Amino acid sequence: MTTAPVLPPEVSRADFEQALGELRGVVGPAWVFHEETRLLGYQDHFAILEQSLRAPSAAVAPAGVEEIQRVLAIARNRRIPLWVVSTGRNLAYGAAAPRKSGCIVLDLKRMNRILEVNEKHAYAVVEPGVSYFDLYNHLQKIGSKLWIDCAAPGWGGVMGNLMDRGVGYTPYGEHFMWQCGMQVVLADGTVVETGMGGQPGSAAAHTYRYGRGPWVDGMFTQANFGIATRLGVQLMPEPPGYRPYLVTFPEEDDVGQVTDILRPLKLNLLIPNAAVTVELNLEASVAVSRAQYFSGEGPLPDSVRRKIMADLNVGMWNFYGALYGPERVMDNNWKVIEESFAQVKGARFFFEKDRAGEPAFGYRAKLMRGIPNMTEFGILNWMPNGAHVGFSPMAAVDGRTALAQYHLARDLAHKYGFDYTGEYIVGWRDMHHVFVIFYSRDNADQKKRVYELMNAMIDDAAARGYGEYRTHLDFMDRIAGTYNWNDGALMRVNQRIKDALDPLGILAPGKSGIWPAALRGTRQP
Ligand SMILES: Cc1cc2nc3c(=O)[nH]c(=O)nc-3n(C[C@H](O)[C@H](O)[C@H](O)COP(=O)(O)OP(=O)(O)OC[C@H]3O[C@@H](n4cnc5c(N)ncnc54)[C@H](O)[C@@H]3O)c2cc1C
Repeated sequence: MTTAPVLPPEVSRADFEQALGELRGVVGPAWVFHEETRLLGYQDHFAILEQSLRAPSAAVAPAGVEEIQRVLAIARNRRIPLWVVSTGRNLAYGAAAPRKSGCIVLDLKRMNRILEVNEKHAYAVVEPGVSYFDLYNHLQKIGSKLWIDCAAPGWGGVMGNLMDRGVGYTPYGEHFMWQCGMQVVLADGTVVETGMGGQPGSAAAHTYRYGRGPWVDGMFTQANFGIATRLGVQLMPEPPGYRPYLVTFPEEDDVGQVTDILRPLKLNLLIPNAAVTVELNLEASVAVSRAQYFSGEGPLPDSVRRKIMADLNVGMWNFYGALYGPERVMDNNWKVIEESFAQVKGARFFFEKDRAGEPAFGYRAKLMRGIPNMTEFGILNWMPNGAHVGFSPMAAVDGRTALAQYHLARDLAHKYGFDYTGEYIVGWRDMHHVFVIFYSRDNADQKKRVYELMNAMIDDAAARGYGEYRTHLDFMDRIAGTYNWNDGALMRVNQRIKDALDPLGILAPGKSGIWPAALRGTRQP
């Protein structure tokens, strides 16, 4: 097997080999990967730019906190940066690949114990390697009546997704909101318990998240200030009843009215879950491919979109929500929801029995009750050899904003020769607008245009006051640059924290645009 050609920045081949030897001494030879073939799993398979820009030099998989501390000591000593992943499946945002080429990936997948399930207080405590499938299967096995909330890919991690502030679809869809208690290892090896966990023997470590004094948990998410090694996550008790539904709307601009109708329903908890308003192309992509309908250049013509709509019996926009609770409560809530959405001309209403056997309804019905699955990966068949990147600006639950963001994304997508494909995931006071840009992985021209489109979107969106909540590695700096109020005061605070907690800059350089002091000021490729 060939050794990977990439080295950590400013480290010689001989020093690197020695470092690998030291790492093998800590975790065992089987858990240090540096051969090219064994590093394939740490590449970004949806890469838009050259893979070599985001190539790891090696990966190391420790089995516990003590091994992490020893790996950190080697990294500090040899000035080798580590890129931290839990399950490492952050596809569409860079997967397990590092922002800076040459980092060693610190892969925490071996730390995969479910340390506690507390049925009475409805929470679990997990290590980084626990996937949604793992936690769900475990709860089933022990007969628990607790639900998880998962992102669409069931192979993703409870911790990894939460650390990147991902979302799911039950009432617990805003993942970070349900985090309670965290154990973090700092760059110098210090282990910290946050919140109530700061008190030895705390009886409320996973039931009250704030402890006393500054609450630091958020600081470790989407960041490079520490390595989370344990997490409390609160779980939803199974409700007495569950009824998923779909409402379809026929016109492109309906998303504005739909969003305004949604706001009071959401604020008043008639719609308790992180429901989704899904645009036609995304809805269709789970069931059919683009090529089945169109082989020409540029975005899909309206006539083709209408044909897809008719064939699949869906709308230009498709709202997936769910009712939870006793039958009588669900019946009552449904009356209000139905009356409200019926104000949109052409709205149509469906329950599970009406959509039996349809992949889109089927997997969304599972997600809204926390059953992990992988069906959404079907969207990648929309294009041959398909991949996608997400442009994800936040929106208020406001019709004008939803419409404005949709028009902005659609018009720019068309300008660069792409379709608009996307959805709005409704949170408590916000919507995560995920504009999913599809491209073929082997089409260099498309990837070039995706890159240009993303950059144009970031700038145009920022000029209108729309900021992204999360992004792919390639756009972290540019998006960080748009959070520039008061001459970038927020980034300067981040940098001061970085310098204090990780003065040698060994943890995830460049994550969220936060670079160690030595790498600031010059544009990093
Ligand atoms: C078809 C498709 C559908 C998707 N649907 C969704 C969706 O519904 N919701 C959603 O949120 N995402 C979605 N994604 C994006 C992504 O694939 C998932 O969020 C996935 O769960 C993230 O990967 P992971 O859980 O393995 O996290 P990881 O890759 O392990 O971690 C993600 C990032 O979090 C940070 N991190 C991880 N662990 C630690 C740690 N221990 N300490 C400090 N920092 C850490 C790192 O920066 C890391 O890069 C989708 C992607 C695709 C391709």
